[in-house]
Amino acid sequence: MAELRRQRDLITEADIVELRLDSVDDPDVTAALAGRKLPVLVTCRAGWEGGGFEGTEDVRRRILEQALEQGADYVDIEWRANFDELVRKYAGRVVLSAHDFNGVPADLDGQARAMRSTGAGVVKIAVKANRLSDCLTLLDLGRTFGANERAVLIAMGDVGLATRVLAQRFGSAWTYAGGVQDVGQITARKLLEQFRFRSINAATDVYGLVGLPVAHSVSPAMHNAAFTAAGIDAVYLPLPAADADDFITFARGLEMKGASVTIPYKVSLFERVDDADDLVRTIGALNTLKIDGDRWSGRNTDVAGFLQPLHDRGLPLSGRRASILGAGGSARAVAVALASEGARITVHARDEKKAQAVAALVSGSVGRLPPAANSWDLLVNCTPVGMHPRLDQSPVPSSALARGVVYDLIYNPAITRLLRDAATAGCDTIGGLDMLVGQAQAQFEWWTGRRPSSHVMRAAATRRLSEFNADENHLI
Ligand code: NAP
Repeated sequence: MAELRRQRDLITEADIVELRLDSVDDPDVTAALAGRKLPVLVTCRAGWEGGGFEGTEDVRRRILEQALEQGADYVDIEWRANFDELVRKYAGRVVLSAHDFNGVPADLDGQARAMRSTGAGVVKIAVKANRLSDCLTLLDLGRTFGANERAVLIAMGDVGLATRVLAQRFGSAWTYAGGVQDVGQITARKLLEQFRFRSINAATDVYGLVGLPVAHSVSPAMHNAAFTAAGIDAVYLPLPAADADDFITFARGLEMKGASVTIPYKVSLFERVDDADDLVRTIGALNTLKIDGDRWSGRNTDVAGFLQPLHDRGLPLSGRRASILGAGGSARAVAVALASEGARITVHARDEKKAQAVAALVSGSVGRLPPAANSWDLLVNCTPVGMHPRLDQSPVPSSALARGVVYDLIYNPAITRLLRDAATAGCDTIGGLDMLVGQAQAQFEWWTGRRPSSHVMRAAATRRLSEFNADENHLI
């Protein structure tokens, strides 16, 4: 109990602190409530509802009753516990809860109606979301609650983040923050700082990054920082869609305004947009969506993002020999970008057919991997070789590096083994962070009409990467 109280008092950023009495061996209501600085919600979750309480239901009921008698601001009572008398007697301070850790119950509306009919002050329903679009069931449910009713509707799992961050939009009176990652919780600090939770309302514009996986992306940090700096009422979420249809359904349901698109949806979403510019059609993939009512448009800002640092450095490209390592999605964008500037392109990849396909896009040629030293003026790494955590790897041996510019698309680490070797060999070097920021700036500008500061986006990305690298379990 002493430890529970200590942790309770460390929390300063929340409005209400949930005291999980089922997390201690010796639950003691009086001790839990004594000296509290913030309002509390007392919970003593039964084992059959996913909690840790091991005593009898009678003892548990008594603990909850004591909490109500002793003036706890709220007490969580499981709907399935059938502690009807307690719910009736203390209705306003009761959070009547129901959790489904497997999925969305078939008769969610019926369940919600039954829970609301008890008169409990707050009805909390938490369901496991398996797809982004499962969140929409809760959005619809939230709309059925009247102005005088209070609900908390949560989709558990990482696909349910929207229900936490956009609590107001989902009709929730509050949301839960913390470190229980299995259910998709994020920390209060992240909720408040990265997602600006306090200023989000039901009308806040929603953007996001759609892909799979997206959990470790720095894009939410960059775009949210830029929205904050520009004073724009918008938020940007990581959206791990199960497939393209899942995202499309979700985006329509939430009336999203736009999205960044990453692997594996750059091609499948291109095939679904109403219009795409020439660049997207040439590359055959997009990385940005803008949604205007029913109209979906696609662009590929990787091209502008890639060229930005080359232009910033005033590097001439016309007629120069450019060697591209890799033949995946980014290699296609880089090839098109360099061709648009008049460079002569050679593609080097371990799969020759894929290299030929990229080269054919820009009337370029295919070369061996690794390319010979002095065979290029610009060498661009479009493979993931050397990316965190394989810091000692490089796509080419140092003997293949001599004069010229080496551009590594990898941004974690900021300085890869390839760039270190290149600098030692006397080459000029460019890291992937410049491109990352450049493509994000172009997305933001297309969505909002305003050019965000590269400094703001770069600082947010760097902070997020250092948090990620500092946490070896990647639990951030
Ligand atoms: P992708 O579509 O998966 O393509 C990766 C390419 O690298 C493929 O050609 C793949 O060959 C090749 N490859 C993978 N492992 C290899 C190895 N061990 N040796 C040789 N070739 C190898 O990925 P992508 O989207 O193009 O991204 C590539 C890298 O660029 C990633 O590190 C990504 O983070 C980075 N990137 C950075 C930015 C930025 O803004 N800075 C933007 C986009 C991408 P196979 O096809 O034979 O597997």
